[in-house]
Amino acid sequence: MAVRVGDEIRDLARPLADGEQIAIVTPKSGDDYLWVMRHSAAHVVAEAVREVVPGAKLGFGPPIADGFYYDFDLPRPLTEDDFAAIEAAVERIKRDKAPFERTVMEVDEARAYFAERDEPYKVDQVDELAGQGESEVSIYRQREFVDLCRGGHVADTGRIGAVKLLSLAGAYWRGSEKNPQLTRLYATAFPTSAELEAHIERLEQQRARDHRRLGRDLQLFHFDEMGPGFPFFLPKGMVVLNGIRAAVREELERMGYDEISTPTILSEELWRQSGHYDHYREHMYFTEVDGQGFAVKPMNCPGACLVYRSARHSYRDLPMRLAEFGHVHRHELSGVLHGLFRVRAFTQDDAHIFCRLDQVQDEVRAVLDLTERFYARFGFGEVALRLSTRPEKASGTREMWDAAEEALRAALEGRDYHLNEGDGAFYGPKIDFQVTDTMGRAWQLGTCQLDFFMPERFGLSYVTAEDVEERPVMIHRAVTGSLERFLGILIEDCGGDFPFWLAPEQGRVLPIADRHAEGAEAVAARLRQEGLRVKADARSESVGKRIRDGELQKVPYLLVVGDREQEAGAVSVRSRAAGDQGAQPLEELVARLVAEAAS
Ligand SMILES: [Zn+2]
Ligand SMILES: [Zn+2]
Repeated sequence: MAVRVGDEIRDLARPLADGEQIAIVTPKSGDDYLWVMRHSAAHVVAEAVREVVPGAKLGFGPPIADGFYYDFDLPRPLTEDDFAAIEAAVERIKRDKAPFERTVMEVDEARAYFAERDEPYKVDQVDELAGQGESEVSIYRQREFVDLCRGGHVADTGRIGAVKLLSLAGAYWRGSEKNPQLTRLYATAFPTSAELEAHIERLEQQRARDHRRLGRDLQLFHFDEMGPGFPFFLPKGMVVLNGIRAAVREELERMGYDEISTPTILSEELWRQSGHYDHYREHMYFTEVDGQGFAVKPMNCPGACLVYRSARHSYRDLPMRLAEFGHVHRHELSGVLHGLFRVRAFTQDDAHIFCRLDQVQDEVRAVLDLTERFYARFGFGEVALRLSTRPEKASGTREMWDAAEEALRAALEGRDYHLNEGDGAFYGPKIDFQVTDTMGRAWQLGTCQLDFFMPERFGLSYVTAEDVEERPVMIHRAVTGSLERFLGILIEDCGGDFPFWLAPEQGRVLPIADRHAEGAEAVAARLRQEGLRVKADARSESVGKRIRDGELQKVPYLLVVGDREQEAGAVSVRSRAAGDQGAQPLEELVARLVAEAAS
């Protein structure tokens, strides 16, 4: 289909230089093949759009994870009603088996060429390439369609697999609100229609489990235009969020952490000292207190440093493990906000460990244990670890880095991990944790990051056994990263069917008739007494309707109380997982649910 030469995938028609090392791309080459095939499909889709909407101007059209998109400036709005006509045109172009032909043009020639064809965005791209020092650019043609492109492509349009258009969105040219808004058409292509269909099915499952939708349907959280990007948590969402928080706290206690809380608003001077003012200002919110500049914290680290600095420490005090559920605010552009995955205010389950360099290995190993145990509790059994080492621009001495990286490697011994050479932060190496959800999507959650820089900036020290002042190492670590985002991931992972211990409403008691209402309330009260979250639903709706409502709310147990049950001191149990289970003595049910919650 194509060849890979170093970082570049090239067309078969391009000559190779003598001695160049190549890898052959076939339909079995996985990502390389998908990339070149989808990239070629993007050209064909663009040609098809131009057939359906003459006068459409071309923006960018790159492959992305799971598909590709193409941006257009359109003389009329494109809608999903146009998809069938565009897909039909794509099929015709594929049947034509037209070759992708490459031509090289001088920059000036290309600029004139696209200007004449009234393609202002292509002219802008040529200008950008010229600005980067390119003297020539490549142009690709299939049939009458021409695009500025680096390549590579499959040999002809007949080698493109099954194509499907997915959705439309707005996107600013080059991502800037100052530029015109274009229409982004998302699409995908797979080698075979069977693979395409399997993918579409996965997308539908993901859509059904979209946490924004479930968050609304299950009354977990709310977004309001009065606070764009700032989530509101409803009572049920708070139950789950608090459940996650409690699970983190259990681990903190077990691993010898102390919990602190630092102010949300702190002096600008602090943020200058920490370096955030210089490097992170555009993500921060500012305010004024007593005529002085203050900022809302985007991170908890400087606050933790002030706590450490508030007292003198000896080597015997170390390691000091200071945990904080820090509510931070970060300004994100409105275009990137996405439910709970990308918000402007969230709670980090943060901790800062201050220790000696020779304690790093044990501390990091303990963080790894804690993190893996925590994820397993939520069903994320497989954790992928990534170690990122010294980047080119790094603060601190080479010896310090070597010692720190050595400590991290030693802590990781016995575990599989991926090495990201040179990908560490400028202030220290780090380990990232990634989990995979039930739909096969990978999520980066926690990190464990060494930092030599901040202790320096804040002049932190401890006194050694020899009575000498030394700098401690600081370890930043988070397990969920953000409680809110973790909740969003969890909602999609379980589709709103939370594990029993975390379910916001663990049971709902349904009286059959009015005369059973009191008995139903007594059952609910008995279960609440044992710490279970149970309410009675005595609305004057039919039992069938109330059962359906309970099922829609994904309540794990619906407990029906009628004459027979009341006489026998029992309830009829409908389990969400196991279906109708018949009548059970109340006390037996109590014991069973208590045990289930504890497990
Ligand atoms: Zn191309
Ligand atoms: Zn930190």
